[in-house]
Amino acid sequence: MFSSVPEFKEAYIRKLEMAYGTNFEESSRREQFQTLGILIREYVSKNWIKTNEMYRTSGKKQVYYLSIEFLLGRLLRHNLMNLGVEDVVGKGLKELGIELDDLEEFEADAGLGNGGLGRLAACFLDSLASLSLPGHGCGIRYKHGLFEQTIVDGYQVELPEQWLKHGHVWEVRKGDEAEEIPFWGEVESTVENGRLVFKHINAEIVTAVPYDMPVLGHHNKTVNTLRLWDAEPSKFTANTDILKYKKETEAICEFLYPDDTHDEGKILRLKQQYLLVAASLRAITKSFKKKNRSILELHEHTSIHINDTHPALAVPELMRILMDDEGLGWDEAWHLTVNTLSYTNHTTLSEALERWPVRIFKTLLPRIYMIVEEINERFCKGLWDRYPGDWNRIENMAIIAHDEVRMAPLSIVGSHSINGVAKLHTDILKEREMNLYYQIFPERFNNKTNGITHRRWLMKANPRLTDLITDSIGPDWVNDTMQLEKLLQFRDSSFLEKMAEIKHGNKERLASRILEKTGIAVDPHSIFDVQVKRLHAYKRQLLNVLHIMYLYNRIKENPHYDMYPRTFIFGAKASPGYYFAKKVIKLINSVADKVNHDPEVNKKMKVVFLENYRVSLGEEIFPAADVSEQISTASKEASGTGNMKFMMNGALTVGTLDGANVEITELVGRENIFLFGLSAAEVLEYQRNGGYHAQEYYHYDRRIRTVVDQLVNGFFPDTYNEFTEIYDSLLASNDQYFVFRDFSSYADIQEEIGRQFGDQTAWNKKSLINIAKSGFFSSDRTILEYADDIWHAEPVIIK
Ligand SMILES: *Cc1c(COP(=O)(O)O)cnc(C)c1O
Repeated sequence: MFSSVPEFKEAYIRKLEMAYGTNFEESSRREQFQTLGILIREYVSKNWIKTNEMYRTSGKKQVYYLSIEFLLGRLLRHNLMNLGVEDVVGKGLKELGIELDDLEEFEADAGLGNGGLGRLAACFLDSLASLSLPGHGCGIRYKHGLFEQTIVDGYQVELPEQWLKHGHVWEVRKGDEAEEIPFWGEVESTVENGRLVFKHINAEIVTAVPYDMPVLGHHNKTVNTLRLWDAEPSKFTANTDILKYKKETEAICEFLYPDDTHDEGKILRLKQQYLLVAASLRAITKSFKKKNRSILELHEHTSIHINDTHPALAVPELMRILMDDEGLGWDEAWHLTVNTLSYTNHTTLSEALERWPVRIFKTLLPRIYMIVEEINERFCKGLWDRYPGDWNRIENMAIIAHDEVRMAPLSIVGSHSINGVAKLHTDILKEREMNLYYQIFPERFNNKTNGITHRRWLMKANPRLTDLITDSIGPDWVNDTMQLEKLLQFRDSSFLEKMAEIKHGNKERLASRILEKTGIAVDPHSIFDVQVKRLHAYKRQLLNVLHIMYLYNRIKENPHYDMYPRTFIFGAKASPGYYFAKKVIKLINSVADKVNHDPEVNKKMKVVFLENYRVSLGEEIFPAADVSEQISTASKEASGTGNMKFMMNGALTVGTLDGANVEITELVGRENIFLFGLSAAEVLEYQRNGGYHAQEYYHYDRRIRTVVDQLVNGFFPDTYNEFTEIYDSLLASNDQYFVFRDFSSYADIQEEIGRQFGDQTAWNKKSLINIAKSGFFSSDRTILEYADDIWHAEPVIIK
């Protein structure tokens, strides 16, 4: 069907006529996009069936990646690329007068995630399929993904996201594979054949309906499945107030929680988590049982991974299935559960650790609560034997304590593997945050440094650079990104100029996007200095913007101040309830206003805030960046993955030694990255023993005093009192993120960046070294490590 351009055109037009009952000339662009999607999905279905068939018969282990978020972005272009039909389709469409780029604009980003954690899950799916590994995603089909952000008068305004408005071409509803999930009610225990049996009675039943999406491997025949669950009213429920029941049921999958650190203590959130876990585990064990193997072999044929603690209910739910449904005893069930489950931790921020009030947990999930209680009792008994009399330690480690159920301890105790997401992060887990558990289960802890799929973030996002790389070192790097190191041989060749020319083209393209969206004209010859990520105090967008204010003051004091022209680009969503973060967005926009409208300043710098940062916008930004801002307070960013996307596209990092910046530094060497600020050890030392006094930096550093005063002294004319909270957080509250402490070294390193950018050849060499060393950060490497060390999964080649 896709072997030649004429064949494609014929199939495409026929499909369009059949789908819409209209001829091509009359069809709308949206219909044309939709038709292409349908055509591709049908084209894929043969291999999808074949893949599932081989997975059933191969006897190889199946991996299930449970995640409350999948931040997929657009799929059309990526799927065309993975199928290897981008050229044929592009040419065919062109002959029909359609640009593929234009059609792509009709696809909504599937934004079922907040940030790094959800995007990691999406990159992992791509790597699993591309490595021919039998690995599937399980998640929730939120009706509305992460909110759409617009900026009005400098303030963030949130609109509901509508990715399903025109239907989603890639999903298939599987009504016959629905599962019935019980909430509320009571547990009744009876003795049957001398055995204690538990029944969940008077429950409110919700039907979980799966929607499957195909996940295509790159240039292979693997088509894995991402299964997203929706909640629908059940015909089995004996609910009297039908309207209320319907409303409450539909509310479960209505919205993604727009917060990537804190947890809202909401029943709805716990319902989401149980729906995901209970429906997925029912489907997984059913599919296992179809293979006619003893349930006692479950862990040899199945790995279930829990991405952060949101799916931690997998521990008690799998126990419940094995005991209540399969009739196993506790010890057998526990052995299978622990050996089937593995867990990734994503943060050391203690405010982000999930806990549920027992009161809510127990009433919403009565049978699950009983099992958690039993797991806790047995665990604590073991601790008592090991540390007799050490109540303090046991209280600290318990799964249930102070009327709360703690999800991280539950995940640790119920999994055979616990991993951090970068070297430094894993070390901090072992030595500090989870040290008490590490002492008991040292063999469970391991590191898996995050990665990103180079197929989306380099090949799709930056096709010209991709072609240059392939022309220079051949095509094998696509399947083995470590081969990017071969680029090092071109350090002194015309490669550098070609690379620089491509970067400039990408910057011109982004500049016209910026003009179109914001009306701000930026100079593609200036340094594109970019910070795009969720807005959070620990990520320190505030340090960046205070430094911009300092540069502004410096130019105003000395209009002849010689600096390399810069464009500061921001993109960030703030959680709607996160007051401080929203103020920082307002501050960035107020500074942008000042800077961009001041004729003395705006020749040397511009400030741009791009609204609604998301995957598809990122794909336009990373290839156009010169400088990548990764400036979190050391020890706070578990890994970061934005840092890897920038590096792979040739941007140089300005950063603290935090998260995966540590590994970037090891790879490229200190000469090829701009490091500044406190180390993680120094931050931890301050936290332990005090000694940081923000006031002192305010008093002794005139640069700091001037910009901080400007937050409250009318410098921003019509926004009086607007920034008092930011001012107070820095001074009165002795800022726990050490912005003032790192200000001076940040200003120094930024000046150094300006100087070095002036030597284009030297800069381009550093850029090349960053690209050449970025192969380590392919999520293919990460997934192979998970497959080898944690899941013990092997490829199944689809013929
Ligand atoms: C990669 C990515 C992130 C994560 O960025 P960090 O800088 O690692 O926090 C967040 N959002 C989107 C849309 C991304 O693509």
